[in-house]
Amino acid sequence: MNIVLLGAPGAGKGTQGDILAGKLGVSKIATGDLLRAAVKEGTPLGKQAQEYMNKGELVPDDVILGIVEEKLASRDAAKGVIMDGFPRTIAQAEAVDDLLSARGSRVDKVVTFDVPDGELVIRMLGRAQVDGRSDDTPDTIRKRLEVYRSETAPLISYYKRQSVVTSIDATGTIDDVAGRVESALADL
Ligand code: AMP
Repeated sequence: MNIVLLGAPGAGKGTQGDILAGKLGVSKIATGDLLRAAVKEGTPLGKQAQEYMNKGELVPDDVILGIVEEKLASRDAAKGVIMDGFPRTIAQAEAVDDLLSARGSRVDKVVTFDVPDGELVIRMLGRAQVDGRSDDTPDTIRKRLEVYRSETAPLISYYKRQSVVTSIDATGTIDDVAGRVESALADL
């Protein structure tokens, strides 16, 4: 079962992705986490990605596809995967479709996380104080929300054409949202 968690930065995809991966016993592919680990280790990939991340821009598609291709093709992923923060562009979504269909699989469900912009900003500023993420500054947050609207939100229509989208209200407690995610997947 392949599930995409889609929503603006700060919508809670990471937290819910971890909960869901635990419940379903499948792995989670979170490109943001993979990139932050590469930046921390100072790898060539990390150095290349850091500049984009600090500006709140998207890392180029070829770089992203380079890091996820192997993971999506792995034996572990054959059971299914939870994708968090990926795909983020139509080109990435098309590449995922191609990679999955090559092994007779597909994106089974896309859960979109709806949170008002004002709350997203409050959550990200709060997270900045706890995690110290270098891209959780007011200017970068504004840029990331803009990039989400222009580059990533069009994926909702892309997946609606495949009839796999369920939208949930992602405000409230972590448990409330986890319950809504579970209901969204009930028909799978
Ligand atoms: P995230 O933790 O998912 O919010 O990602 C943090 C940053 O990493 C983003 O603002 C982008 O710069 C970069 N990033 C993460 N995932 C992707 C992706 N799938 N495509 C392009 N850039 C990404």
